[in-house]
Amino acid sequence: MPRDCEVAIIGGGIVGLMAALTLAERGVPVVVFEKGTLAGEQSSRNLGWVRKTGRELPDLPLAMESDRLWDIMPQRVGRDVGFRRTGILYCVRNEAQLAPHEAWLDAVGDHHLGSRLVSNAEIADLVPGGQEGWYGGIYTPSDGKAEPQLAASAIARAAMAKGAVIIEQCAVRGLSLAAGRVAAVVTERGELPCKVAILAGGVWSRRFLGNHDVSLPTLPVIASVLRTKPIVGPTDIAVGAPDFSFRKDHSGGFTITQRGGFIAPLALDSLLLARQFAPVLRKEWRQIRLSLGRHFLDDLALPRRWQPTGPSPFEKQRTINPDVSQTLNAEALTNLRAAWPVFQGRTGSA
Ligand SMILES: Cc1cc2nc3c(=O)[nH]c(=O)nc-3n(C[C@H](O)[C@H](O)[C@H](O)COP(=O)(O)OP(=O)(O)OC[C@H]3O[C@@H](n4cnc5c(N)ncnc54)[C@H](O)[C@@H]3O)c2cc1C
Repeated sequence: MPRDCEVAIIGGGIVGLMAALTLAERGVPVVVFEKGTLAGEQSSRNLGWVRKTGRELPDLPLAMESDRLWDIMPQRVGRDVGFRRTGILYCVRNEAQLAPHEAWLDAVGDHHLGSRLVSNAEIADLVPGGQEGWYGGIYTPSDGKAEPQLAASAIARAAMAKGAVIIEQCAVRGLSLAAGRVAAVVTERGELPCKVAILAGGVWSRRFLGNHDVSLPTLPVIASVLRTKPIVGPTDIAVGAPDFSFRKDHSGGFTITQRGGFIAPLALDSLLLARQFAPVLRKEWRQIRLSLGRHFLDDLALPRRWQPTGPSPFEKQRTINPDVSQTLNAEALTNLRAAWPVFQGRTGSA
């Protein structure tokens, strides 16, 4: 552990690591603390879609900037992170499902994204071998993908090469304040004075801030993802349908998920934030499956208040590792196989 730093970053997921790289490139002394292993949570388990399609308008400038950053990432980090502009296609089954895509296209008209509506015949050209008669879809050729298992470690290595210090297995328990400003981060291995702290703690940020009397209104959802061995698939385009999605990864296998199903584990926060999240629940209720399971008790057992002198919840759970929902994965595979039979019997999961 260095004696001090300019910026302390709490969390070694892709957000914390990218912030570290950016600061290190600018010569700012920066230290990243990760309670478990780098990118051990969301950042190595996601689908890897780099998407502008369907972004809410306020998010669109960020998505476009992110797109530009992925483009130059190989030069920045000196490694392949799997970024390819293979396009993203969403297929829909009826007019009601197409309507939000039409509205979105109208709204983003002057951003030159190259997104366009496509017919069933065009979908058949783009992704051969399909069995469904799609009502239509939306296609953005300039969207793409990156490889979660390559990107975070490449970014971490590049940040370290530029002088960033990264410390794994070291939780930040809290902040030490002086005159209302952050003066240090308090870690399980002692205090590190800093001028600025960046909280990039993913699903843990709410608990971290709660101990400092700041309410960050976030609730977790769990998605399950299936990965296949290399197979000959129908396309390199990432394809999303209402009840499945798939995309080819760098090894030639496919990443498949049930787009129509997320598990929302009920916990104390679900009650505390119920009013704020009611509109989302009303809008997305078809996709969200509420679950009252092990998570409820595990969550209750984790402290919400602690002293920085003693162990924090972040040391008790180094890496959050929710159970895979075999039901959701099986649904996704069944729906995909019905739509593109080329996936029948050839997917042996990895
Ligand atoms: C199934 C799934 C699919 C997804 N698909 C996509 C996709 O296709 N495209 C896309 O753009 N996004 C996708 N996402 C979202 C994307 O993965 C996240 O937005 C991104 O990984 C968030 O990165 P992060 O660094 O903020 O958080 P995380 O990756 O969660 O990193 C936070 C880190 O902080 C550490 N930490 C927390 N508290 C402390 C502490 N007190 N001290 C030290 N360390 C701490 C944690 O251990 C963790 O490693 C998907 C997510 C999931 C779950």
